[in-house]
Amino acid sequence: MSGKVPQVNLVFDEPVQRKKTPKHLADFGPSERKAFAEELGFPGYRASQIATHYFSHLSNDPKLWSDIPADTRQGIADALTPKLIELVTTRTTDNGMTRKDLWKLHDGVLVESVLMRYTDRVTVCISSQAGCGMNCPFCATGQAGLTRNLSAGEITEQIVAAARACANGELPGGPTRLSNIVFMGMGEPLANYNAVIRTVRNITDPNPDGLGISARSVTVSTVGLVNGIEKLTEEGISVTLAVSLHTPDDELRDTLVPINNRFNIREVLAAADLYEKKTGRRYSIEYALIRDINDQSWRADLLGRLLKNRNAHVNLIPLNPTPGSKWTASRREDEAEFVRILESYGVPVTVRDTRGREIDGACGQLAAAEKASPAS
Ligand code: SAH
Repeated sequence: MSGKVPQVNLVFDEPVQRKKTPKHLADFGPSERKAFAEELGFPGYRASQIATHYFSHLSNDPKLWSDIPADTRQGIADALTPKLIELVTTRTTDNGMTRKDLWKLHDGVLVESVLMRYTDRVTVCISSQAGCGMNCPFCATGQAGLTRNLSAGEITEQIVAAARACANGELPGGPTRLSNIVFMGMGEPLANYNAVIRTVRNITDPNPDGLGISARSVTVSTVGLVNGIEKLTEEGISVTLAVSLHTPDDELRDTLVPINNRFNIREVLAAADLYEKKTGRRYSIEYALIRDINDQSWRADLLGRLLKNRNAHVNLIPLNPTPGSKWTASRREDEAEFVRILESYGVPVTVRDTRGREIDGACGQLAAAEKASPAS
């Protein structure tokens, strides 16, 4: 393990990009979209027509846009809703109920999203950055470093593609609706704050301004960037906050989640508590169980004591071993003991199911595998 502390963009600057991502309707709030259309030489009212096709009808076929003059449809579509993500490969498992899409961005950068159908919901796990700068040693994405931030358009496109796949009946079981969005793909969402918030609003704004999905169905998962959590608290959107804690003691967390050297456990939990107070939303603690590293019963005990008076829920994730790492998932009996101890403190706990593991669905591995041996 290296003790390298990741560099975080603390001032929430605009992303530094190598080649500018084309602007997209989804980069703008509803009140700015009219000006965006006008700047491109279209009447302002076209913006809400295109937003209706995009967010309400999930339509990417301008030929069907009968409220727009036929000869201008394609031009308007290309200008306002340029195709920002192109499908490279799709891998499925669980009889097609889990599907992982690898996307190529305009500059050739690869990101991925995972769509999972359950009996009662359909969840998409999306990427907010290409790579990640947080350098957590157990995470495949972290090993590759940060390539760049995604724009709101690029993040939103992953979600709209998932919603379209659901509506088109591409998953077994027939047409359905996308119900949940989790920012648990590649990247640290709060290190790409503005684009992530714009995306959350695109998800939660009612049709036709957005997808009209409730904020409580959206989970933003963070390593614990305290300033980002504080900003989110002021935002007035009640998404579910997930904090990747992974251990209750600063000594180990300094190495498992290197940003802990900057924002320690006490500070992160205090920020999460304030978020909970303001929004009334219980938050999640993510905890990847790593054999003989963070799965000892004394750590379960410490975690129980840390969380027993907090409105938090623990989500245990059996470690998905990354290539070349000597770490592996906990023994079954250690996992069971960890759960038992947390429950003895009255702390709600679930063990995450490991959907998509066979297709490297847990942590940025498809993009990594693709680089190593590109699909023909
Ligand atoms: N940057 C965000 C999102 C990361 S992915 C965050 O850190 O929260 C979502 C979750 O998967 C995080 O809790 C992350 O720590 C966890 N994770 C990463 N690699 C993993 C692995 N190899 N096995 C299990 N969980 C992993």
